Amino acid sequence: MHPIRLILMVVAILMASAQVSASSSLDAAVARYTDTEDGRAAYVRAVEARFGAANDDDGGAGRARVERLLLPLTRAAQMEQPLVVVTSRDDVNAYALPGLVVVHRGMLALVTDDGELSVLLAHELGHLALAHPVRGIRRSLRAAYLARRAARAKDIDDGARAFVDAAMHADLGLHEEREADQWAAALLPRAGIAPAVAVGLWDHLEAAGIPDDSRTHPSYEERKKIYAMR
Ligand SMILES: [Zn+2]
Repeated sequence: MHPIRLILMVVAILMASAQVSASSSLDAAVARYTDTEDGRAAYVRAVEARFGAANDDDGGAGRARVERLLLPLTRAAQMEQPLVVVTSRDDVNAYALPGLVVVHRGMLALVTDDGELSVLLAHELGHLALAHPVRGIRRSLRAAYLARRAARAKDIDDGARAFVDAAMHADLGLHEEREADQWAAALLPRAGIAPAVAVGLWDHLEAAGIPDDSRTHPSYEERKKIYAMR
């Protein structure tokens, strides 16, 4: 064999094995912070520290509300109830991290209707059901590196911080946002929530002047169509 070909072959084998080890340490990190009791507690602490937890009565009530509304959704989808963190931030936003849903207090304050909040939560559950946060970590070199550190960290809190960093560097796109909307639109009627409620939510956010972020998310118009079709 020509030496160049031999070198190329060795490089290809090394690259393939690096990819396998990156994906198995991502799996190990996900298992550590979502399946073990210590890991889950450290994960929640790290998310709370990063976003600023709403740990007063108001935040506690918000978290209880989110957990109560998630129950019929996770039951209809036959999936595990995710961890929930309510932050003290005023911006109107929510995110899905692996096995965990973050909701800003600003979202809970604006969306006071439980049906409308369920629509938003169904969208976040869609990201989890479709494994978007983990897929997004795998797609970003930086995130995959952080996940490797999270899997190996001796101190579980250090590791949990790296895991949250990894999740925040996940590379997600418009395609995933649309997929999560389609998944949520299919789920909601099975959880007893009419499509009109979802359309009402997007109308409500639009009327409140929340930008539709159509660079990263489907526009309000498109979202209304996705949910109304069901
Ligand atoms: Zn989303």
